[in-house]
Parts: sequence; structure tokens; C-alpha cells
Amino acid sequence: MRIVDLSQDIYQGMLVYPGHSKTAMWDHASHEETAERFESDFSFQTKAFTMNDNGPTHVDAYSHLDPSADAATIDEMDLGLFVGPSLCIDVSDVPPRTDITPEHLDAAVERAQQEPAPGDILLLYTGTWNKYVDDRRYLSDFPGLGHEASEWIESHRIKAFGVDSPTPDNPASKTYPCHLMSRRSGITHYENLAHLDEVVNTRFVFVGLPLKLRGAHGGPTRAAAIYDL
Ligand SMILES: [Zn+2]
Repeated sequence: MRIVDLSQDIYQGMLVYPGHSKTAMWDHASHEETAERFESDFSFQTKAFTMNDNGPTHVDAYSHLDPSADAATIDEMDLGLFVGPSLCIDVSDVPPRTDITPEHLDAAVERAQQEPAPGDILLLYTGTWNKYVDDRRYLSDFPGLGHEASEWIESHRIKAFGVDSPTPDNPASKTYPCHLMSRRSGITHYENLAHLDEVVNTRFVFVGLPLKLRGAHGGPTRAAAIYDL
């Protein structure tokens, strides 16, 4: 079995989507402090942190996308949504702040020489994380799925999808057609994935189980690609 980590590091000062609360992390208990609790050599240390539920690598809960009172929060969503056969396609040729079109997606599928099957999890390699890790352009210089490409995702009956950028929508968009598609279709998505260059144009089993945060609107996730499971 080979595992590729598709998650970004979580750390103080990491970039988060504009307006989200920042990530903070600090030393909470040290070996020195805890040693006195034990009569043996044992001691431990821990860290504390705060972060936005949509801050790091995460999956959007239905309640994030949908204002209706019965939209599921992350702890209420079926775990079956977050694990399954997956294909990663290459849209890294699409210029920043433009719409990814159905033609781009068809060409990417052609390059992968594999069709996404109904029920697959589809990952889109935009190259944004690879280009701009720790660079503020990460938050603004990437393409996003336009209205027609969002319908392409829906019509291919993908189970979930994900991107290596802060949002699957075009950052220049004021209407967010891709998030609206996720809202109406129940096809949710991952944001802030990493290392998609290592899995692009291949099939694998995607695992992206979100933290079970009660009532939260997104789930920070350790996402991974598993080969030869
Ligand atoms: Zn989202």
C-alpha cells in the first residue's frame, strides 16, 4: 500500500481564506511541567490551537453552503461521502482568475486517459498550492469552475470533488456558481488540498474524513490518496 498525503500543514500564520479566523497554536503543557505529576520518569507535552472550521485542508458541510435550517452540519454528514474511488485531473493550464470550462475539463479527462465514473471523488489539480505555498497570491491567483463547468461536475454524478486552492470558484466571481451547484446538488467539496501534482492523472482511493466537530460548517481533514488498498 502506498499513501500520498494530500493535506496542507496547519500552523500559526498559515494563510486562510480572506475573512476567516486565523490559526493560532501555542505550547500548552511541557515535559518539565508535567514531570512533577508522576513518580516515574514519565512526562508529556501538548499543544493547544484554535482555527476556523473552514481554515486548513477541509470539506464544506452542507450547512456552510445552504442557509436552510435543516442543512446538515459536518458531524451529521454520512462518512461514505468522504471515502471512495477517485481520479485527479490536470487543469493547471487554466490562467488565474478565469473560469474553468467544460472544454478544459474534457481536455483534462482526455489527458488523464480515464473517465470519472458516477460516484467518484474528482480532484482538480490547479497547481495553486505548489506555486504559492506561504505566498499571499495563494489567496487570489487561481482559476475556478464557472457555471457550465459546475454543471459538468453535476452531470457526471461525481460524489464529491476537491481543489488545491482556497475555493473551487473563480476568485474574481461575485456569484460563486460552483458553491451554488454544491448547495443544490449535495455534491460537496474539499478546499486547500496539497501535493496533487503527485497524484495527477491517476486513480486511487481518496480518504478525507473530517473532524467530528459538533454543529460545525466544515471539517478540517487529513486527506490522503491510497494506492493498492
Ligand atoms: Zn467551499
